[in-house]
Amino acid sequence: MTFRGVAGELKSLGVRPSRNLGQNFLTDTGIADWMVARADIGPHDRVLEIGPGLGVLTERLARATDRLTVLELDRRLAENLRRKGLSVIQGDAMETELPEFDIAVSNLPYQISSGITLRLLDRGFRRAVLMFQKEFAEHLVAKPGDASYSRISVMAGYRSECSIIKQVPKSCFYPAPKVDSSIVEIIPRHPDFDIASEEGFGETVRILFSHKNRKARNGIMSEHEALGLGKDGARELTENLPHMDRRPITLSARELAEISNAINDIRNA
Ligand code: SAM
Repeated sequence: MTFRGVAGELKSLGVRPSRNLGQNFLTDTGIADWMVARADIGPHDRVLEIGPGLGVLTERLARATDRLTVLELDRRLAENLRRKGLSVIQGDAMETELPEFDIAVSNLPYQISSGITLRLLDRGFRRAVLMFQKEFAEHLVAKPGDASYSRISVMAGYRSECSIIKQVPKSCFYPAPKVDSSIVEIIPRHPDFDIASEEGFGETVRILFSHKNRKARNGIMSEHEALGLGKDGARELTENLPHMDRRPITLSARELAEISNAINDIRNA
């Protein structure tokens, strides 16, 4: 669909694109073709799309598989797709229970980038081809020590391989967003280290990254209560672990897991 086609269809539906819903619609159908081809969908794969909008990806996905689930929050857009013969669940992808799926293909609303990526990873799948704002994509693929390395780099990176596979300029959308986008491929994998408690690991990473430029030792001492440790326990930990003089932004997921496993041991002692 062209720029004019998207604007016209939205107008006829009485939809003024909402920034709060991240409604920037793809006008370059070549990008939609590319994403669906890259997702390498078999005819029996269970495919999930979040935020179909006017259906530029949806109609291509529906041709690739007969097992497509589509979730759209905006009621008017969901009804419009149903009128086109596509089956759509109207609901919030952050609250609706996600179905089992093999492959996800979506141009995501930027507000839920982080939360939905983690929700998808919790569910488990074979491959995802997802469009994000460029800056978020850079966070997702960042490695320890990179300028973009952050909590989401750890929480997605320890259980998947994330790669930027295409850059998409903002001129490919209506309305044009302020920033460019990137398409990311996510392939889940098991971490090659043990995590005693997934919940504890997530909490440790969250707390340490809220002090990401301080030495891990100082972050742990000042947040010992939030980490479920007494002062003595926190001291014991910081005296016995190797990475305590490093800043969290230089620690790998494996090193962060060593910290959270040690916290787990002290809490359960
Ligand atoms: N896939 C379409 C495209 O590429 O043109 C639209 C992409 S647009 C970036 C994001 C879409 O997600 C919009 O249709 C918006 O209404 C929908 N959306 C926003 N928040 C949502 C949520 N929490 N759950 C499901 N859909 C959501």
